[in-house]
Amino acid sequence: MQIIPAGSRASRAGSADWFSGQVRLDPLFNAFDQARVQGAAVTFEPGARTAWHTHPLGQTLIVTAGAGRVQLWGQPLQIIKPGDVVWIEPGEKHWHGAGPETAMTHIAIHEMHAGKAVDWMEHVSDAQYLGES
Ligand code: MN
Repeated sequence: MQIIPAGSRASRAGSADWFSGQVRLDPLFNAFDQARVQGAAVTFEPGARTAWHTHPLGQTLIVTAGAGRVQLWGQPLQIIKPGDVVWIEPGEKHWHGAGPETAMTHIAIHEMHAGKAVDWMEHVSDAQYLGES
């Protein structure tokens, strides 16, 4: 057993390669030993979002603060709020992030597969983010 004390691990900024705007990542748990599951709290400032991406074994998002957005490729974007739980199926192309004027924090949980938990794609354009295309 291991207790990971609150405040014992540094926050870090989301890479501009895979995020737009200001994003803060706070690690919660990594894939310990044989386990494959990992989780992090992700905070998006207004307007910030992930790039388009997929997860080889899917992803669960638990919204904990604010109001944000999630969108599957080819579908309308949807508003997400605290208490909402979002399940992204393996291979589904999607993005998630804040609202244009509201920050959003979610806990993201996903499993490693062949050494990775995400396959990154292109950035979400402003028009896509605003639901205009
Ligand atoms: Mn995702």
